[in-house]
Amino acid sequence: MFTTLSDRLAATFKNLRGKGRLSEADIDATAREIRIALLEADVALPVVKKFVAAVKERARGEEVSGALNPAQQIVKIVNDELVTILGGETRRLRYAKTAPTVLMLAGLQGAGKTTLAAKLALWLKDQGSSPMLVAADLQRPNAVNQLQINGERVGVKVFAPEPGNGVGDPVAVARAGVAEARRTLHDVVIVDTAGRLGVDAEMMQQAADIRDAVSPDEILFVVDAMVGQDAVNTAQAFLDGVGYDGVVLTKLDGDARGGAALSIASITGKPVMFASNGEKPTDFDVFHPDRMAGRILD
Ligand code: GDP
Repeated sequence: MFTTLSDRLAATFKNLRGKGRLSEADIDATAREIRIALLEADVALPVVKKFVAAVKERARGEEVSGALNPAQQIVKIVNDELVTILGGETRRLRYAKTAPTVLMLAGLQGAGKTTLAAKLALWLKDQGSSPMLVAADLQRPNAVNQLQINGERVGVKVFAPEPGNGVGDPVAVARAGVAEARRTLHDVVIVDTAGRLGVDAEMMQQAADIRDAVSPDEILFVVDAMVGQDAVNTAQAFLDGVGYDGVVLTKLDGDARGGAALSIASITGKPVMFASNGEKPTDFDVFHPDRMAGRILD
């Protein structure tokens, strides 16, 4: 479907072997190809501009080395810059000094939070933790039930609202859930929160109230990688309204090419920590910036 960036650059540089340094015209041609490739990968325009400027700057300063031809050399520069923007090293989860570690999920409805909650719980179980899920999404009629089913599937306890536990009040449910996790000696508690179809002041306030009630160790912003450029506006709105420590990209099994990852990481400065790539509980992994860079380049 797409011409890969590596192929584009190879074509641009067909006649350049043996040159000691790339000319300004060569660099401009490179910049054009990178720009097109990033826009095809659905990277937001301001991010593309900043990125291309950084690559041009580096390309100007480099000698054409013996080992790599000019195209390979530029691909390497682009790869390095992509990895840097995506956070460099893989960002690991930070656990609380005193259990339980509280993880809060935030994001729009349909982003994949409830599915992700169970995936994350299963992953934590595999890491040797004893996680518990808290169903504090009381907005979507079926969300509590869905979390209970997902939790059961991965063998993780779900704290759901019931009379006396704050039915109808997500903040009370979240607080009671964390207290229950502490009492029952679960070392990680994952709080699922409500989203709406679009950014909404009431939703932000509710998420901020839950945050204040449970003091999460990590707030994870969950975003559908398929929504493309819109993801950037949503990511910024959640950063301003709730704040978060890291990003989880979902639906990477679709034909999203990683543009959302790059745009969000660049604009918010927050690392992508996990990635979801399917509907099964095991379709989930720690996010590796170098692998995503490869995906954008190929
Ligand atoms: P929530 O509203 O944020 O809690 O979103 P859900 O967890 O209910 O997910 C919305 C839809 O996306 C559901 O149909 C999920 O099965 C689906 N979904 C979630 N994560 C993924 C993913 O990584 N890949 C695919 N293909 N579908 C996903």
